[in-house]
This record gives sequence, structure tokens and C-alpha cells, in this order.
Amino acid sequence: MLKIPDLHTHSTASDGTLTPTALVERAAAAGVETLALTDHDTLAGIAEAQTAADAAGLRLIPGVEVSVTWGGRTVHVVGLAVDTTCDTLLSGLAGLQAYRVWRAEEIGHRLARAGWDGALEGARRYAAGTLIGRTHFARFLVERGAAADVRDVFKRFLVSGKPGHVPGEWTTLEEALGWIHAAGGIAVIAHPARYGFTRSKMRRLLGELKECGGRGLEVVSGSHSKDDYYVYARHARDEGLLASAGSDYHGPEKPWIELGRLPPLPEGCTPVWTAPAFGTVRRAAA
Ligand code: AMP
Ligand code: MN
Ligand code: MN
Ligand code: MN
Repeated sequence: MLKIPDLHTHSTASDGTLTPTALVERAAAAGVETLALTDHDTLAGIAEAQTAADAAGLRLIPGVEVSVTWGGRTVHVVGLAVDTTCDTLLSGLAGLQAYRVWRAEEIGHRLARAGWDGALEGARRYAAGTLIGRTHFARFLVERGAAADVRDVFKRFLVSGKPGHVPGEWTTLEEALGWIHAAGGIAVIAHPARYGFTRSKMRRLLGELKECGGRGLEVVSGSHSKDDYYVYARHARDEGLLASAGSDYHGPEKPWIELGRLPPLPEGCTPVWTAPAFGTVRRAAA
């Protein structure tokens, strides 16, 4: 199978379970030639990943998955080929990191009221990096025997209407794209099938993305079905958006999502990695 780039992965800098080095080494061993590290709301893993990528002969695309609130829902925007020294991007992400710290304290209070003491400290133990998220709480609650697995914790504790849920707002689509573009990156809507939007709401999202200068849509994703590939390939074509592909790998605990196994984009897609911001990536991936 033709190896296509994997443009969406996580490390211990956010809620992945492999260090940036281990992630890059595993990707290289799986035959991935071009890999984007796209941790949630942080660039903290990129420098280590770059060192490992240089050693492994793999091309690393610096990226980030930015948490956005749009249409009353959380929408994830992947920024690809970003300048990791850009102050606008770094200070925008710092705001989201601060919100995460506040939200984690609030999740801890709410879980304590529901009878689960020590959740904040427990989650912090799982958060090796600079960033704390709901997945770290989920791992702690699994350890405590509160639920069978991470997915079960989300369903029972962490989603809307459940005891550990904290309503709140991330950043706006416009602001997130402003940061990504200030850093010279390309903005891509991540895993569009996950939002459960109607066709018209999806078109509205993609319209606003383009109005803000966004360029891409994840067509092939580890959390998409084969049918989804075709649905979103068509959206990308209809809207004139570049198509991206990423596993959304978080670590070996989810064996159904593995590095180096992405299928090619459906016919008629323009790959995001042909965009000039990717520089020589195009040659490497052609
Ligand atoms: P956060 O950004 O801290 O709100 O957490 C979002 C992350 O939690 C996602 O990137 C996934 O890694 C994980 N996640 C979200 N929903 C679920 C779910 N239903 N089951 C398992 N993991 C989930
Ligand atoms: Mn995640
Ligand atoms: Mn996501
Ligand atoms: Mn992700």
C-alpha cells in the first residue's frame, strides 16, 4: 500500500501514552515517512519529536490540535506546518492551557462531590506533560475501578449531563485560525464525522472555516468509517478544501488505531501535503 503521511497524532505532551521519541520511533518502524505531531493545545512535544525524527530519518511536520467552541459544540482544528516559535500561536495556546488547569480543578471538585476523592491528583499522575485533559481523569477512574475502560468513563462521568462534566468555552474558530495562520500553518477541521452535525451544519462550519482562511478537511481519520471517507471527500471537493489524513493515534492501548496503516485518500481529493506550506514534503510523499 502506498504510504501516505500521517498528519494527526498525540504524545505524552497531551493525552497520548507514548513519549514524542517513542511515537516517532514507532511511526518510523511502521514505515511512516511523514508524521505530524498534533498534541491538544500544546507544542511542548515538538522539539523532542524533531530530534527523534532527525535520528530516524523521518520527516516531522510540527502541528497542534486546537480546541474550539463552535455552534455550541467542541470542534477540533488541526494546525499543520506551524512555526513553533510564533508568539501569537504560543500565547493563544497558553490561554487554552490555563483554561484546562481551571477546568481540571473544577472536574476534581465535581467528581469529589460524586464520591470520587483525589481525582485531580490522580489525573495529574497520568498527565506527564504540560497539559491536563479529560483522558487523564478517565485513566485514573479506570484505575480506581469506577468504570471498565476509558470510553466507559467518558460515557458515565465526563460528558454533558454527567457528574464530572464542566460546561465551558474553548476559543472561537476565528481566533484559532488567526493563531495558526500567524504561525504560517494550514488549518484543517479534524475528524468531521465525530461531531454528528447535519449536512447543512457541516457546510456552515466549512463555510466559516474558509471565510477565516482555513484550507483543509480531514477526510481519512482513525475515527472515520470507510463510508465517512467518501462523505467527507465529497465535502472537501464541493468546498474546494484540501484533504488531510491522520490516524489520531493516542498510543498502543487502542490497538484498532495503529501507525502506518492509513488508506489512500479517495479519488479526486487534493492532498493537503501538496500545499506550499509543506515545502519539500510534497516531494517526499509523492
Ligand atoms: P479534552 O480535550 O480534555 O476535553 O479531552 C478530549 C479527548 O478525550 C479527545 O481528544 C479524546 O482523546 C478523548 N475522548 C473524548 N471522548 C471520548 C470518548 N467517548 N471515549 C474515549 N476517549 C474520548
Ligand atoms: Mn485526545
Ligand atoms: Mn480531536
Ligand atoms: Mn486528536
